Amino acid sequence: MRKLRVGILGATGAVGQHMVIALQRHPWFEITEVAASDRSVGFAYAERVAWRMSEPIPEPVGRLRIKECAPPLECDFVLAALSAELAKNVEYEFAAAGCPVVSNSSYYRMHERVPLVIPEINADHLRILPHQQKAESFGRGFIVTNPNCTTIGLCLPLAPLHRRFGLEKVFITSMQAISGAGYTGLHALDIFDNVLPHIDGEEPKVVDEPKKILGKLHGDAWVHEEFAVSAQCNRVPVEDGHTICVSVGLRNKPSLEEVKAAMREFRGLPQEVSLPTAPAYPVIVSDENNRPQPRLDLRAGGGMTCVVGRLRPCEILDYKFVTLSHNLIRGAAGAALLNAELLYQQGYLR
Ligand code: NAP
Repeated sequence: MRKLRVGILGATGAVGQHMVIALQRHPWFEITEVAASDRSVGFAYAERVAWRMSEPIPEPVGRLRIKECAPPLECDFVLAALSAELAKNVEYEFAAAGCPVVSNSSYYRMHERVPLVIPEINADHLRILPHQQKAESFGRGFIVTNPNCTTIGLCLPLAPLHRRFGLEKVFITSMQAISGAGYTGLHALDIFDNVLPHIDGEEPKVVDEPKKILGKLHGDAWVHEEFAVSAQCNRVPVEDGHTICVSVGLRNKPSLEEVKAAMREFRGLPQEVSLPTAPAYPVIVSDENNRPQPRLDLRAGGGMTCVVGRLRPCEILDYKFVTLSHNLIRGAAGAALLNAELLYQQGYLR
């Protein structure tokens, strides 16, 4: 079987490097193009990238010349890890040139014809793509996005609760890792021995995105789910891994055991059809009273599993718990790759 050729936009960044690692030895896809800013264009990838992964740069990728983030590239689709400002034009140009874009950026997430996908939850939202292609005259091209890194770690445990018991209210406080700001995003002197109580643009994303993801697509229009979300997002001095304290109010009133069972039994299409990057369990629930911890639990399911702990009754809403997910894997590179695998499995990339 010929592997599909992938181009990575933003290949030198924090997310791009995780994409490079996630794609080595991939059964369906191989990297044929890496693209970044003008500062990097023309250099061999290994020569230019400030490599921060513990594994070495895969040799064939290290030899690739970095290209400009503009079509055409020698690839069948692109994984995009650019800032939202750049994504606006660059992703559109690729899609308009007939190249599918599997994006990690926020710019198109809430667009009325762009699916915002977590494959375990709303794989069916890909049905919007023919409408998008027609409305924008994209031909074979399209744009698919994955959610914000905090939204993903929140929605994975919320989805089974919503399906079984109906969400009414969600109250969250996040403790987000430094790497979530990208490699040049935060100065060490600002975050060392400190907590920053504001992350630019983060709270609206965490409030709005879950309602689209858990919503329903009717024809070519979404009905966003209606529940109240209040979010407080903080940056903490942890390298990788976003931890979120969550309280939920539910329409039905399940027992603690029923809530736990809903999360433990949660599976989706990626598990059913064994997508290569799918973890066996999207959510695991720990009964230990001191878990999850980034240092101990971040690599569950290869970084694709969300670890929930401290599940207990809430004095104000119904139940509360702590959830942890890897912001650069489940929240970014792994999220985009799982979307690409879903698209391939569903026939959208052929
Ligand atoms: P990053 O580490 O700052 O990397 C940025 C990438 O964009 C680099 O490859 C850089 O190339 C390239 N770039 C910068 N300016 C450019 C330009 N003018 N034209 C073309 N390429 C340019 O950022 P990141 O953390 O990987 O984030 C990438 C995207 O993913 C963002 O939208 C972010 O919000 C999203 N995201 C990040 C995380 C996370 O945990 N970090 C999680 C989810 C989503 P050079 O090396 O040449 O400068």
